[in-house]
Amino acid sequence: MGMNNSLAALDERVSGCRACPRLVDWREEVARTKRAAFAEWTYWGRPVPGFGPPDASLLVIGLAPAAHGGNRTGRMFTGDRSGDVLYEALHEVGLASQPTSVSVDDGLTLYGVRITAPVHCAPPANKPTPEERDTCRPWLVSELKLLRPTLRAVVVLGAFGWQAALPAFAEAGWTVPRPRPAFSHGARITLESQSQSQSQSQSQSQSHSGSPANNPLELFGCFHVSQRNTFTRRLTPEMLRGVLRTAAEAAGLPTRPYAG
Ligand code: SF4
Repeated sequence: MGMNNSLAALDERVSGCRACPRLVDWREEVARTKRAAFAEWTYWGRPVPGFGPPDASLLVIGLAPAAHGGNRTGRMFTGDRSGDVLYEALHEVGLASQPTSVSVDDGLTLYGVRITAPVHCAPPANKPTPEERDTCRPWLVSELKLLRPTLRAVVVLGAFGWQAALPAFAEAGWTVPRPRPAFSHGARITLESQSQSQSQSQSQSQSHSGSPANNPLELFGCFHVSQRNTFTRRLTPEMLRGVLRTAAEAAGLPTRPYAG
């Protein structure tokens, strides 16, 4: 696989995107004005690319970077409360090398799992517009196509990510049922691979891997790890671990039982 088609190259290109004027303004304004607690930081202030190995078999899809989290540190879910909850759970399930995620050079490694978002720039009030969601979708489609040879399962955090990601799965070569399945916590749906003749022109992975990547994708819904959900215990650590463990097992990843 050439460098231009690699996931690292995609991440590089994502990081330079300026397609959404409102989000470019917001991410850069936040990076200039900062939050007092992070006054010493040089904010990233750019699109936040996906994080995790290029041969991941499990993908976690969130919503968008937080203004003072990913937009500050440059890594998905890194440096905010939502990320604390997510990485602690990933670590407890055996998918992350450590329970904390504070900066790009903190040594965190993910095992077989990659984390991304359907919108790569921090939006005001955590609310991207439908137009921004649609403008950013090609990045997710490209990421899915590059992951396709190894990807077996996806966890989508929240209804926004679910709505944003379903068309991307279809564009990347999986069949999404009609009517589109509704989001719920605990939802589990198998997305069959589109037939090879249909997907050959769409899936770069097939020509690169030399064998057809016709694997189905197991799709899981999970409440988002937002503070609103975790503070109210709409989403508990137990619930999050449960979905992550089930999805990891569906993806063929080794997990470890919760030690308490
Ligand atoms: S949200 Fe996506 S499409 Fe819009 S500027 Fe950021 S990276 Fe580009």
